[in-house]
Amino acid sequence: MANYLASIFGTEQDKVNCSFYYKIGACRHGDRCSRKHVKPSYSQTVLLPNLYQNPAYDTKSRLNPGQLQNHFDAFYEDFWCEMCKYGELEEVVVCDNNNDHLIGNVYARFKYEDSAQAACDALNSRWKEPSAELDRELELATKKWLRERGRDDRSAASSPTPEPENPRY
Ligand SMILES: [Zn+2]
Repeated sequence: MANYLASIFGTEQDKVNCSFYYKIGACRHGDRCSRKHVKPSYSQTVLLPNLYQNPAYDTKSRLNPGQLQNHFDAFYEDFWCEMCKYGELEEVVVCDNNNDHLIGNVYARFKYEDSAQAACDALNSRWKEPSAELDRELELATKKWLRERGRDDRSAASSPTPEPENPRY
């Protein structure tokens, strides 16, 4: 029995552990998933959810395919150089899916788990203790985002946003 359970761990036959989360570290059900999301305690791969803001999914973007490619290449190169600070990188993958739980997900696979751990620690401490400046930038970006979609205080009265019937996570 133990052998059987081990053989199906993280596959779609596994009724306990979520196969999607096991494979890609993300699942469209989020915290509401009926199966367990097992966070690895160590891994060669670091996941940065929703990091790449692909202008192809921005309705206001007028970039042509060549410009979109350049935008992506610049991001890829920057990200690669940033990750190289923590150790030898083997691969960087950017998700092109546009589901909420996958969009812009970036996976960085290091040669050694220690490097991935170093990257993870550095990134977490940066996100957890944002400077006042970063806070302000985020706040402005959020306001801009809301304004563009007509969801800020001023436009709320004229265009109320209906509550989604089936919220997705
Ligand atoms: Zn799941």
